[in-house]
Amino acid sequence: MAGSAVPDKPLIVAIDGPSGVGKSTTGRLVARALNIPHIDTGAMYRAIALAALRAGIGTRDEAALEDLASRVRIDFIPGERERILLDGEDVTSQIRTPQVSMAASDVSSVPAVRRILVRLQQELGRRSGGVLEGRDIGTKVFPETPYKFFLTARPEVRAQRRYRELLAKGQSVDYQSVLAESERRDMQDSTRTDSPLTYDQTYTVIDTSDLTIDQVAEAIVQRVRSFC
Ligand code: C5P
Repeated sequence: MAGSAVPDKPLIVAIDGPSGVGKSTTGRLVARALNIPHIDTGAMYRAIALAALRAGIGTRDEAALEDLASRVRIDFIPGERERILLDGEDVTSQIRTPQVSMAASDVSSVPAVRRILVRLQQELGRRSGGVLEGRDIGTKVFPETPYKFFLTARPEVRAQRRYRELLAKGQSVDYQSVLAESERRDMQDSTRTDSPLTYDQTYTVIDTSDLTIDQVAEAIVQRVRSFC
């Protein structure tokens, strides 16, 4: 009917999965190919974790974390060099330490923290669409999107990737502790009560163990385009 055109809904691509499956690098390539922002939701949990560590707040102290999360300002700025700001301070590199990784997993199990960050993620996505990458994007943040991908990889492959990533960032880490930390974090993320890491039949599952990042990104882009 003439004049009844409905504005296009923003394109949302959900990429979920455990640590070290290549979500961030893949998400960035997919976002570039589809010309929409890449939104790394893990960075937001990391920023809250960093704020808690700096303030000396226990990463399991629910009341204090709820208060903290409602007071601090988190800004995620997508782009070729995406940035995460905590109360206006650029903390993009400070949030990448193993200590912050584990603390992020702790604070992310607090429902009030999740509520605040999920709202922020939904606002960002609704504004201009995006490739959102995390643990609960297709289950909780944008359950209505038809484009949901769950990336997996064998545990030792994931730990190797994390290990190389940390070394490349100049951090002194040993492989065994990276393996132990990622196993502990994934177990905690998969077994928490609020929004555990999981997927259902609405997802496309991709085992990335023996694929390059380009192949994973290409598979996702092709699937999204075939739906559109
Ligand atoms: O993805 P990344 O490893 O940076 O995420 C850090 C932590 O943040 C995860 O271990 C997880 O506990 C939490 N997280 C989450 N939900 C998301 C993204 C990250 O609970 N959507």
